[in-house]
Amino acid sequence: MYAIGIDVGGTNTDMGLVSEEGKIVARRRFSTSKYNNFQQYIHDMMDELKQLLATVSADFSNVEGIGIGAPNANYYTRCVENAMNLSMKGLLNFGDEIKRYVDVPVALSNDANAAAYGEYIYGGAKGMKNFIMFTLGTGVGSGIVIDGRLLLGSTGAAGELGHAILVPDGRQCSCGLRGCTEAYASSRGILQTYAELRASHDALHRDDNEPTTPGWIDHNRALTDLSCKDLGDAANAGDPLAIKAFEITAHYLGMAMANAVAFSSPSAIFLMGGPTLVGEPLLAPLRREFEKHLLYNYKGTCKVRMSELRANEVAILGAAAVIKMK
Ligand SMILES: [Zn+2]
Repeated sequence: MYAIGIDVGGTNTDMGLVSEEGKIVARRRFSTSKYNNFQQYIHDMMDELKQLLATVSADFSNVEGIGIGAPNANYYTRCVENAMNLSMKGLLNFGDEIKRYVDVPVALSNDANAAAYGEYIYGGAKGMKNFIMFTLGTGVGSGIVIDGRLLLGSTGAAGELGHAILVPDGRQCSCGLRGCTEAYASSRGILQTYAELRASHDALHRDDNEPTTPGWIDHNRALTDLSCKDLGDAANAGDPLAIKAFEITAHYLGMAMANAVAFSSPSAIFLMGGPTLVGEPLLAPLRREFEKHLLYNYKGTCKVRMSELRANEVAILGAAAVIKMK
């Protein structure tokens, strides 16, 4: 039997057919942003799914279920509710709408929770009963698995550790609150930290000509033109301000991770996403800051690990795993 994983993004919808062993045997992609009519979107999605199955000479009788990862998705209602980055507005009832075409189980989850469950079913957390996943990217998402079950909570939206407040009255977060972990540990937050460091550095050393060491960031380069990857490359080349930016990030993220351990005592915290690809400039200080902020009886009990799912597969595998949630 196959599990179908569908990742509903603001721009594209990615779908994949996943074998029992966790291999994506076929995948397709179509535009999400061209739709504002939800019925039409699902109609076309079902056509795409049939073509996906046809590539391996299968049909829906070979499908165990359809798992969907989407922003603001609710596992209980199988609806997406007012997702800001989707062109389709209002309450989108994926569960009922898909049932009009095919009678297979349909399950929905938000992206970060799906990623965590994907790690549990197909990745490095296989067989692990207690762990937390932090996904770092434009935002910071998280998923919490306790005693082998994904924590959903009363609303189905549990596990938004990225928006737990870390700094009282701190930086403005995209969610409207201030001082959230996301405002410091997302790629945007890391770039903001670097921008602040550079502003105070350049204010002190205004008249100096910056040394143009190969690989370091030229201070005449516009900040808006920098990506988190550029910053990571510079840190790995020894750029002191870039290194400092990742150390500050590690300080905040390490504290957020230690707080999370106090909540559910996981045996590992998994990390994934672009900013983690910088490697040691982030991970070395992160391990240190994490251990430092742990309550004494948790010290040494929780490993920091990298996701074992590939970046270009995690959304589909995570969505497919949602169908296996108990
Ligand atoms: Zn926030």
